[in-house]
Amino acid sequence: MAVFDNHIHLRASFKGVEAAKLFERAGGTAMLLTHSPYAEAPVTRADDYAKAYGLTLEMAQAVRAATHLQVFVALGPYPVEFIHLRETLGHESAMESMERAIDLAATHIREGRAVAFGEIGRPHFPVGAEIIRACNDIVLYAMAQAKSLGSAVVLHTEDPTPATFAEFAAMAAQARLEPRYVVKHHSTPLTRPEDNSGLVPSILAKEELAAQALKGGARFLLETDYIDDPDRPGAVLGPATVPKKTRAWLEKGLLTEEQAWSIHHDMPERTYRIEMD
Ligand SMILES: [Zn+2]
Repeated sequence: MAVFDNHIHLRASFKGVEAAKLFERAGGTAMLLTHSPYAEAPVTRADDYAKAYGLTLEMAQAVRAATHLQVFVALGPYPVEFIHLRETLGHESAMESMERAIDLAATHIREGRAVAFGEIGRPHFPVGAEIIRACNDIVLYAMAQAKSLGSAVVLHTEDPTPATFAEFAAMAAQARLEPRYVVKHHSTPLTRPEDNSGLVPSILAKEELAAQALKGGARFLLETDYIDDPDRPGAVLGPATVPKKTRAWLEKGLLTEEQAWSIHHDMPERTYRIEMD
């Protein structure tokens, strides 16, 4: 059976491959390894993204070499980075850096090393209107590239309401990207299409969220958002959570085999246009 974690971070400086092995041992089969900033590869200008993305791509290779897992990669400039870049470089140069980071991610997607832009979006905490506008422009820029590459976008934003989903669906429409290629990472359990405007919610593998999500159907993804950061232990779910919880929910009848197949096999295949083993 396929078991897919849609949002996981692994760091060579911490558990890295060992965390992936825990995922595999618990029954995991595939993951979306998602880029996020590394302390050892700080981004102070656009040129720094090559090294930072390189760490994520190297980690993907290391996990493939050490396990039987399918490792898919998402690359993109983390939204909060824009705030730091803006303080040091100024608004225009910061925007340009973010766009160049999207361009570099696009190259990796085009050449088959990554399947999606992510995580990109806007800060999850309140920021000024000018920053929101700039972040939205960067998302739109990535959506247009996703459309032409036939890839997907993984969004990091504030906790979404139906209005948030509608806002991003309108942006996708502007980029002529179908909403089913836009994933809302760390989503609220809004699984009914009328609530999420056809975007794909990716939901933390917690029982109360899954139970809520399943009421609207099995058109969603599961994630841990494991951050593999020794400074923030317990900030998120552990790397084995998705396979462990999936098995537990199947056993107690919270989840049917058919729903599990949708969440772990069909939705990842359709969203990222990938093939699961
Ligand atoms: Zn994340």
